[in-house]
Amino acid sequence: MTIHDELKQNKILLSDGAWGTFLQAKGMSPGECPELWNIDHRSDVLNIAESYIKAGSDIIETNSFGASRLKLSQYGLGDRTVEINRAAASISREAAGINKHVAGSVGPTGKMLLMGDVTELELYDSFSEQAIALEKGGADIIIIETMSALDEASIAVKAARENTECVIIVTMTFSKDPQGRFFTMMGVSPAEMVISMKEAGAHIIGSNCGNGIEDMIGVVKEIKAADNNIPVMIQANAGTPEFIDGVTVYRETPGMMASFVPQLIKAGVNILGGCCGTTPEHIRQMGKALGR
Ligand SMILES: [Zn+2]
Repeated sequence: MTIHDELKQNKILLSDGAWGTFLQAKGMSPGECPELWNIDHRSDVLNIAESYIKAGSDIIETNSFGASRLKLSQYGLGDRTVEINRAAASISREAAGINKHVAGSVGPTGKMLLMGDVTELELYDSFSEQAIALEKGGADIIIIETMSALDEASIAVKAARENTECVIIVTMTFSKDPQGRFFTMMGVSPAEMVISMKEAGAHIIGSNCGNGIEDMIGVVKEIKAADNNIPVMIQANAGTPEFIDGVTVYRETPGMMASFVPQLIKAGVNILGGCCGTTPEHIRQMGKALGR
């Protein structure tokens, strides 16, 4: 069944939790390229994917958030872009089997059009190459996530939509200002995101990372107010990151995150998972709150 059919049945789908913080817990050091682990530490990455399938995820992502050529080039790994993305998707597909979904993760390039760091064509080519490799490796969804600039997100959505058959999800990262309004780092509101991302060709729109899950209720409401029909995906961090003794700590427990699930359902969420600091146990308890 395609994800569209499942969503049409009003089923709320469960996605997965963090990969980056999970890799760190498995011993990845700060200067390492996380995506090279798909090749050099394949079984550790597979173990993360399997943990989320065991926790009940209907959709798991891939360890490819920073695997665009533009980003990999910072590690001198640009020429291995296709190999790394194909490996990432094949690992998640191995864990997911044929009945669960694999969402190829695509993060920001770190280059800003606004600053003249990169051209539109360079961005498009970088995102196309990554999306094609993820699909070839076994992804049936491309998830463009942690975006804050509309222009980069639009180019990523178009590149994935025009060059693959995958379902396209895009999620941006918001924080709440003192007046209680949500904006990305680049000043984009949820309503502006919805308009631009639909125009670019996204099938599913939402938010990931940033603050904890409680603020996501307001984000879902704003998305639904802008478009009542677009499926919404939410992947919150396990709370706002705190820096203690040089270590990033996320304090929201699985139970705390799960306690907000009923309000997110009421607000209209369609796909629910976690971002930084969340673990398989967070996902399992969110699943329980969904009646699994
Ligand atoms: Zn995050």
